Amino acid sequence: MRLPLAAVAGWIGQVNATSGDDREGPTSNSGTDFIREMLKQHSSSGPYGGRVQTRFPPEPNGFLHIGHAKSICLNFGAADEFGGTTMLRFDDTNPETEDERFVEAIQEDVRWLGFEPEQVVYASDYFDQLHAWAVELIEKGLAYVDDQDAETISENRGGFTTPGVDSPWRDRSVEENLDLFARMTAGEFDEGSRVLRAKIDMNHENMQMRDPVMYRIRNQHHFRTGDRWKVYPTYDWAHGQSDAIEGTTHSLCTLEFDSHRPLYDWYLEQLGQGPDRPRQTEFARLNLTHTVMSKRKLLQLVEEGHVDGWDDARMPTIRGLRRRGYPAKAIRDFAGHIGIAKVNGTHEIELLESFVRTHHNANALRRMVVLDPIEVVITNWPVDDDGMSRADVREAINNPEDAAAGTREVPFSGRLFIERDDFMLDPPKKFFRLAPGREVRLRAGYFITCTEVETGPDGEVTRLLCTYDPETAGGQAPDGRKVKATIHWVSADHAVDLDVALYERLFTDPHPGADGEDPLASLNPDAKTMKRAKAEPAIADIAPGDVVQFERLGYFARDLDDDPSSVPTMFHRTVGLRDEWANIQKRQGT
Ligand code: ATP
Ligand code: MG
Repeated sequence: MRLPLAAVAGWIGQVNATSGDDREGPTSNSGTDFIREMLKQHSSSGPYGGRVQTRFPPEPNGFLHIGHAKSICLNFGAADEFGGTTMLRFDDTNPETEDERFVEAIQEDVRWLGFEPEQVVYASDYFDQLHAWAVELIEKGLAYVDDQDAETISENRGGFTTPGVDSPWRDRSVEENLDLFARMTAGEFDEGSRVLRAKIDMNHENMQMRDPVMYRIRNQHHFRTGDRWKVYPTYDWAHGQSDAIEGTTHSLCTLEFDSHRPLYDWYLEQLGQGPDRPRQTEFARLNLTHTVMSKRKLLQLVEEGHVDGWDDARMPTIRGLRRRGYPAKAIRDFAGHIGIAKVNGTHEIELLESFVRTHHNANALRRMVVLDPIEVVITNWPVDDDGMSRADVREAINNPEDAAAGTREVPFSGRLFIERDDFMLDPPKKFFRLAPGREVRLRAGYFITCTEVETGPDGEVTRLLCTYDPETAGGQAPDGRKVKATIHWVSADHAVDLDVALYERLFTDPHPGADGEDPLASLNPDAKTMKRAKAEPAIADIAPGDVVQFERLGYFARDLDDDPSSVPTMFHRTVGLRDEWANIQKRQGT
């Protein structure tokens, strides 16, 4: 479903924004939303004696993405606000797709986001208890072994307007069910030949209540329990019971699980869990324009080589965003700002970017880097006795937003690089930068005037000859003459070569896959462009993972895998300088 932009903006507008909080560590939205209202009520007078305990329950079958970040910020953030705790629980009930490497990556990502789990636990820790409880339900006549195959079970479930059909095995005796379930557990039967089902009501108006499957046979190696188990619990059977074992009070999940809530409650009731049993509450998933969030689709991008891995800077994974230079705090602030809703919608990616930009504007050091260099020779620059161009040291401000960041030295010399598109041979009226006969200011340098242009065989500009005015070192001409542009530059003899990755949207369609087409149909093959850039020497101060503003160009993150003991070699464009979110809001008249 597509929400019109205005509707999305209106919805955002209802939420209390508390971004801009500068304290260290997790920030979360302490405005009101229905979940925080509930926690407030429950923690003062509710069934849990003031206790709040949440959990974040990822399946270790992939890497976390920005959607998970919303759930993490909610679970950890809200619990923290009410003096509660949060477990990180791996929902490891599908042995075929799960793996230890995802377990490690997920923990790393949660901590990187700024949250520390009270405990790291696994649904597989509870396999014995879950199994014992299943036996208890069989003994109570509330569960049975069904010999129908998956397809038949699904067919006989009926539809919204048609009742389900009872399985011929529904009325097996308790003894027979206990015996068959024990033999399923012992590995006597083939995968798919039998399941354990709860005995609820095949005519229930809620399809989830039509004798849901609790256990299926899987002859698979589990990355933690090895070959011990031949039966594995389903999500519904494992989830609420795991919550109960851990003492979870509030089980927060996404909206598509709302029809599962009666089943969640039913299981806990049959097991005799009292009023202080966990309760499930649903909230809207995060969707972002120009982004896909399904693990399956993200996996496809990786496997088909559209990106260079899960941590590619084009990916909406936490690892991808981190490589791209998105700070954890900006992600938390974004999550807090959008708040929690009960209706699914889509947020503009420009809003997330504006949190990233705001953060870096305040914190990032400035450096001069030329992405598409053209050489400039300063013809009146002093030359030493040995015929070498003399170097001069200029002083530049590190961060105009932060006086404490101080200044740095930038070498100036008779051979410079400027941006190719800061020069035009035959400029149109509104082009104020360098052109033949035109004077501009070099930032933190001098005024220069273009006196001559050298061209190659095809008429392409190869080199600019300029003169400089030594009287303009302070950035002003003593005679008061004005220039209309200030451009950035790098001294050629001191320049550091960099590989710089520029990014566009990975999906050109703002809603990839809406209207039922394959989201990959709008994949942008040119989402990444590499440049060979020239940087001023002080780029060496930037550590891997740090973000810097390339003046006039945007924010760039030094690659995380760049060798920290040597000069930087690789940067990723995090986000441009222009606040596109502000433009969107202007267009919407908000
Ligand atoms: P996928 O459907 O892509 O496989 P998932 O939701 O099944 O993803 P899990 O590992 O099961 O992935 O998710 C762990 C938790 O993160 C769940 O509680 C889920 O509700 C939450 N979550 C996943 N995606 C989003 C999202 N886009 N917005 C908010 N919460 C999300
Ligand atoms: Mg899931």
